Amino acid sequence: MEMEFSEEQNMLRESIRKLMDKHAPPAKLRQWDKDRAYPYELYDAWVEAGLLRMPFPEAYGGLGGNVIDMAIIAEELSYRSADIGMCYGGNIFCGLNLVHKASEEQKQFWLPQFLDGKIRFSISMSEPDAGSDIGAMRTNARRDGDDYIINGQKLWATSAGAKNNVINVYVKTDTKAHYRQGMSLFLVEHDRPGVKLRKLDMLGRRCAGTYEVFFDEVRVPADRLIGGENKGWDVVMAGLQVERVTAAAGAVGAAQAIVDLAIQFAKDRRQFGKPIGNNQAIAHMLADMSTEVEAARSLMWRAAWLVSANKNALREITMAKLFASEAYVKVANQGMQVMGGYGYNAEFDMERYFRDCRAATVAAGTSQIQRNLIANLMGFKVT
Ligand SMILES: Cc1cc2nc3c(=O)[nH]c(=O)nc-3n(C[C@H](O)[C@H](O)[C@H](O)COP(=O)(O)OP(=O)(O)OC[C@H]3O[C@@H](n4cnc5c(N)ncnc54)[C@H](O)[C@@H]3O)c2cc1C
Repeated sequence: MEMEFSEEQNMLRESIRKLMDKHAPPAKLRQWDKDRAYPYELYDAWVEAGLLRMPFPEAYGGLGGNVIDMAIIAEELSYRSADIGMCYGGNIFCGLNLVHKASEEQKQFWLPQFLDGKIRFSISMSEPDAGSDIGAMRTNARRDGDDYIINGQKLWATSAGAKNNVINVYVKTDTKAHYRQGMSLFLVEHDRPGVKLRKLDMLGRRCAGTYEVFFDEVRVPADRLIGGENKGWDVVMAGLQVERVTAAAGAVGAAQAIVDLAIQFAKDRRQFGKPIGNNQAIAHMLADMSTEVEAARSLMWRAAWLVSANKNALREITMAKLFASEAYVKVANQGMQVMGGYGYNAEFDMERYFRDCRAATVAAGTSQIQRNLIANLMGFKVT
């Protein structure tokens, strides 16, 4: 069994590190977080470097990469900031769903604009009364001649307020059917008449931003429907494998950064005349943190490899997302303890990692929902 990256994959990793060193040095990351500012200049640098193009097929202007490339990118971006990693990932998943499910005409219309950085995408599925229970969704669209009219309210939409954003909104088009047979995906510009956004005050992910979105008689042409009426669930499922692996890779990258920060601190910080890392209590904590991240990484790469080989990996991607996001939260808590008062201070990066980590076990399906799914794959009927 071999677990080696290709020369191209190593080069990709190295080029992202260089790009991030140049465009997102630590002081800038701290400032963006403090200002709650979307990193537009960095996004432009990603566009210029072709990072957005990486996982897209060459036929649509992409570079023909796969889930392994996506995982490398997510790991490296989130190593600097999981929040910044979301500014990349959230977009890409929506774009890839178009590759899987949009018509040829829709792909030719949306993908070039997206890959050139002229528009951004966000996903909007959750609602005040429909989180884990997505079937309780109430936002709906009704046909009106050549258009659809959308009404409802969405919640927790990451990056929906970023400039030139096109919201990928999932709505009910058949309110009587089960959501898997009655939900559809529409693409709606965030400044279209009738759309209103409210930026929410969240613990972390301050650069990507999290939004509440209101749809009041929003009229969209029928060609904004992606994948066919009542086929929204198929669109979600088409992108699930890559999304879960990438979420796990982001958690691994951020968790590794936390471990590295804590190790360095334990070497530099002296109390009682010696580095604090020479206390077994601290050294063992660091050993556990490092082991936890390594285990998460192994699960994530195995899942990525299965997906890249087109094997059904629902169990593995779910385990990877569950374990990596929980490892991230666990090591952030331990990293904070290693750094004492310095960890709790916003002048040190641990504080930012600690805030950002908490979304990982909630967003993109909570840990409890991942466990339900794993249990159901074992033959149980957990709801
Ligand atoms: C920072 C952030 C960004 C997000 N970005 C987006 C986005 O871009 N687009 C989008 O559509 N959504 C987004 N979400 C929403 C996210 O997907 C939901 O928060 C998540 O699905 C949980 O829904 P909820 O918050 O309503 O919690 P609930 O579903 O109300 O759950 C509350 C608690 O109950 C548990 N629970 C619920 N049902 C069960 C069950 N059957 N078994 C066991 N436990 C259960 C949950 O695990 C959780 O612990 C984001 C959320 C966050 C925090």
